[in-house]
Amino acid sequence: MPTVIPAIVAPSATEPLFTGTIERRDVGPADVLIDIRWAGICHSDIHTINGDWGAQHYPLTVGHEIAGTVAEVGSEVTKFAVGDRVGVGCMVNSCRECANCLAGEEQYCLNGNVGTYGSKDVDGSTTQGGYSTSIVVTEDFVLRVPESIPFEKAAPLLCAGITTYSPLRHWNAGPGTKVAVVGLGGLGHMAVKIAHAMGAEVTVLSRSLAKKDTALELGADHYFATEDPETLRTLRGSFDLMINSTSAAIDINAYLKMLALNGTLVNVGLPPEALPVRVGNLIGGRRSFAGSNIGGIAQTQEMLDFCAEHGIAPEIEITSADQVNEAWARVLASDVRYRFVIDIETLKS
Ligand code: NAP
Ligand code: ZN
Ligand code: ZN
Repeated sequence: MPTVIPAIVAPSATEPLFTGTIERRDVGPADVLIDIRWAGICHSDIHTINGDWGAQHYPLTVGHEIAGTVAEVGSEVTKFAVGDRVGVGCMVNSCRECANCLAGEEQYCLNGNVGTYGSKDVDGSTTQGGYSTSIVVTEDFVLRVPESIPFEKAAPLLCAGITTYSPLRHWNAGPGTKVAVVGLGGLGHMAVKIAHAMGAEVTVLSRSLAKKDTALELGADHYFATEDPETLRTLRGSFDLMINSTSAAIDINAYLKMLALNGTLVNVGLPPEALPVRVGNLIGGRRSFAGSNIGGIAQTQEMLDFCAEHGIAPEIEITSADQVNEAWARVLASDVRYRFVIDIETLKS
């Protein structure tokens, strides 16, 4: 018998979220039941409910930045025990047989991974996310949260952390590389902290000067406002790697021109609109335009351990279950420094 639990529910693409209920499956032999304590708010939650990326099955509960405590384990579970501090990110399963799964890149599963919400689960039901009091997940998709990471700050690492860590690692950010972070939101501010810890020289490209002081505190070496046309001219040919985390379409050609020879602009931001590239901007500098999607399970654990080792955690603002609509409005207005985290205790009471 499924268990009915409290959750924050989106009834449709256009109506406000409300506090309702969802169902969780029984704990199977390989499953872990997690009591959710903290849930981060990712811009992807909003894109999804808005239908920016396609139609959804409503009602839907989103949330894929989950931190909680193991409450029960299935009979075959070996990696976790009751009481462990754990996390769940954007995936809860994958085929585990395709070339990409076997390479540890489950996020690129050729048969489609099972997303934490809005995805078809193995039993045919639609997955429901972390704006809820508990979740049942197969142990292979559960992450261990190191003790030194403050629990409330662990949640955003499960999406914003890994989504920026993965391309920074793949494109070898480190001493001697010049990295630009475009858009200083939830993802962007983690990109700054992680790239700085990797030893790269970090530049923030934000729309205005409003976030300059905090960006430098996060570890940025330089900061420019992109609303100033001088910025694009000054920075022509500058960067080895640009991480574009903006949630809306930008003039990508203007940004490609800021890449150095052999530089790569990686989109992690996923706006609903296309970003048309003028090929001359790639040819003139052997430049690449790339994309990157979260990270595999093993790399997500590596990122958590890296953050623990380097004392890295997101800057957060804690919100409550009855304030999530207001929090979403503030995310859309880029008015959060830099990630909202829902205190799930407020959903239990
Ligand atoms: P966020 O906190 O809202 O940050 C987005 C940032 O984009 C804002 O802080 C703002 O930076 C900039 N921005 C917003 N509107 C803009 C506009 N109209 N023009 C130019 N810049 C604008 O969002 P997030 O949670 O970091 O997510 C960012 C994007 O990444 C979303 O599209 C999300 O769906 C996507 N995402 C992708 C993955 C993946 O695996 N690839 C994972 C998670 C999220 P400034 O104010 O500094 O200019
Ligand atoms: Zn996300
Ligand atoms: Zn697969």
